[in-house]
Amino acid sequence: MPKLSPDISVIIPQLDDEQSRPLMAKMARIFRQIGAMGEMKRFSQNLRLPQEARRLSQRAYSLYDQYLAYVIGKLQKNGWRVYCDIGCAACCFAMPGGISNWEFLIIYDFLQQAGQLEKFFRRNLESCQVLDQVRGQPAGEFKGEQFSGKSEYDKLLIRYSQLRHPCAFLDDSQECLIYPVRPLACRMHFACTPPELCDPTHPRFSQAVRLNLNPHTPVEEVLQRLDGHLNLNFSDLLAPGLVTLSANIMRFSPISWI
Ligand code: SF4
Repeated sequence: MPKLSPDISVIIPQLDDEQSRPLMAKMARIFRQIGAMGEMKRFSQNLRLPQEARRLSQRAYSLYDQYLAYVIGKLQKNGWRVYCDIGCAACCFAMPGGISNWEFLIIYDFLQQAGQLEKFFRRNLESCQVLDQVRGQPAGEFKGEQFSGKSEYDKLLIRYSQLRHPCAFLDDSQECLIYPVRPLACRMHFACTPPELCDPTHPRFSQAVRLNLNPHTPVEEVLQRLDGHLNLNFSDLLAPGLVTLSANIMRFSPISWI
C-alpha cells in the first residue's frame, strides 16, 4: 500500500493498542460503507456518486490524522524527534505512489470544485514527462547501492526523487495546495532526522530515518476492495493517475454528486 519513497523509508510496525485500534476500525468501517453504496459499481458509466460518500471520506481522513497524531505522540514520548512541521516540504520532491483510485476521485473533485483542474492537469503532465524521461534512461543509470534488490517500480521512483522535481501541487511557499485531500501516502510519511537528509542527493541521505505510518491492514484491504468496485484500474502514481483520470475517464467533466 501507500508509500512516498519506497527505497528509503523504515516501515514501523503499526501501532495497535486500545487507543489506535478504534480509530482504524472506524476508518475501515467508513470505507466499507462507501464501497457498499450501489453507485460505486456504476461509477464508470454514470460518473455519479452519493454526496454522503464525499462527507464520509473526509471523516475517514480525519480519523487517520487522529491516528497519526497519536502514534507520533507515542514516538515522541519514547524519545524520538519528528522533524516534520508546517513549512517543510522536504519529501514533496518525490512521486507519491500506492494511491487508491478512490483517493484520486477525491483529489479530482477538490480540484474541480476549486476551478483549478486544468492548471494542475498541465503541471501533472509535466511531472509525467519527467517520469517518462527517467523510464527511458539506460539501465546503467539505475546501478548502485540504492538500487540493489529493488523492483523496477521502486527503481523508477528512486531515480525520479533524485531529480528533485517538485510535486505538481507544491506552491512557491512550500505549501501543499491539496492539503485537505492529500493522499494517505503523503500523510503517513515522517522524518526523524533533519529535513536536509530527506534529499536523496545529500551525502548522509542513507543515514536518515524516515517512517511510513501505514494505516492498519483492514483499512488497506477495504480500500483495495473499494477500488475493485470502482473498476477503473489506472496508475497508483500521483501524476500519471491524475492525468489518466482527468483526460481519459472523467474527460474533465465534474463528478455528479447526488
Ligand atoms: S500532494 Fe502535497 S503533500 Fe503530497 S507530495 Fe504533493 S505537495 Fe507534498
